[in-house]
Amino acid sequence: MAANNIVVLGAGVSGLTTAYLLSKDPANKITVLAKHMPGDYDIEYASPWAGANYMPTGKEGSAHQQWEKATWAPLKDLAEKHPEAGIHFLGTIIYNRTKDQHSAIGQVFSELVQPNPWYKDIVPDFKAVPKDQLGPGIDNAQTVTSVCINSPVYLSWLVGQCAKAGTVFKRATLKHIADAASAHHSGQKADVIINCTGLSSKFLGGVLDDKLYPARGQVVVVRNDPGPMSSVSGTDDGDDEALYIMTRALGGGTVLGGSYQKHNWDALPDPNLANRIMKRAIASAPQLVQKGQGIEGLDIIRHGVGLRPLREGGPRVEKDTVDGVNIVHNYGHGGFGYQASFGCAEAAVSLVKEVLRQKTRAKL
Ligand code: FAD
Repeated sequence: MAANNIVVLGAGVSGLTTAYLLSKDPANKITVLAKHMPGDYDIEYASPWAGANYMPTGKEGSAHQQWEKATWAPLKDLAEKHPEAGIHFLGTIIYNRTKDQHSAIGQVFSELVQPNPWYKDIVPDFKAVPKDQLGPGIDNAQTVTSVCINSPVYLSWLVGQCAKAGTVFKRATLKHIADAASAHHSGQKADVIINCTGLSSKFLGGVLDDKLYPARGQVVVVRNDPGPMSSVSGTDDGDDEALYIMTRALGGGTVLGGSYQKHNWDALPDPNLANRIMKRAIASAPQLVQKGQGIEGLDIIRHGVGLRPLREGGPRVEKDTVDGVNIVHNYGHGGFGYQASFGCAEAAVSLVKEVLRQKTRAKL
């Protein structure tokens, strides 16, 4: 059987999930090449900063919705059968304030918070909160059982699964996408490159995608454990400030978020924003701290900032040819890179198969 030489460029959730699916076929000989790898914390590397959870935001009928739909079952399966992957089930409360519908955050969450969303048939235990139990300012709320991913543990788990199947990992910073073709560990030219460089595709030679821009997310990670996950459609502190809380599996701490600051590249945590994040979290989930305590009751592990790789028109999952090199792009997943990861990676794998079939036909 002829080998397929494949280079995956990027080791965030998009690159690693794509490599993981490809590695199930022994004919695929895969090199993952990346500037950053699990274990690194860097502003150019979005994946470790994510909570991450599954809170669907794709509009009904969109590709985004299809990718999220396709991702629930694999995440559920990992949570049920592979505790070492760092994914666990959590009770989840989703709050909607109608007044947020035009804010930057409110628009992102418009599908998530609507009373009759498509995901009610996918994510278990969907229940509307009775009107008489809604807190002040909340117009509707629902509970589900969703998953929360300890992203650093999960990324490392993906690396381990790929390595077990023979994938080779290398560090490199490429200036041009076509250079990846000569980086395969076999020494032979790669048959196809999968571009999973996230926001950096804006600057990568041969791609230079101007549609990409960041949505800055600031978080505070604490040792306190409030129990259920929660997310609100917006806050009173600004159009692009968010309120969400999630406790990661396997002792990963509780992530308090956040913000959704479009076109903001600032890598340093803003201390004032951090204060607002912590105050909002305690106001929404008072059980985070002892009775009567404020933010001094939070035991902080770290402050963090990540840049969600947003793209006008949505993620780019498509074939391309650059300088005669076959490329499959899988980047630009905004704030939903984990919850759409399997759907997007499956789509990318189908495109890889098309490229390989075309190559085989061309040789005959
Ligand atoms: P990245 O993780 O950025 O990885 C890019 C990879 O490409 C890295 O390995 C990098 O080193 C490599 N690379 C880039 N350029 C080069 C180059 N020139 N040469 C070599 N290598 C290169 N999503 C969810 O689904 N649920 C959530 O709850 C959630 N919460 C989030 C919270 C925050 C605060 C943030 C910031 C994001 C959140 N997201 C969430 C979004 C999610 O994190 C991203 O969509 C996802 O991580 C993007 O992954 P990626 O692999 O495409 O990119």
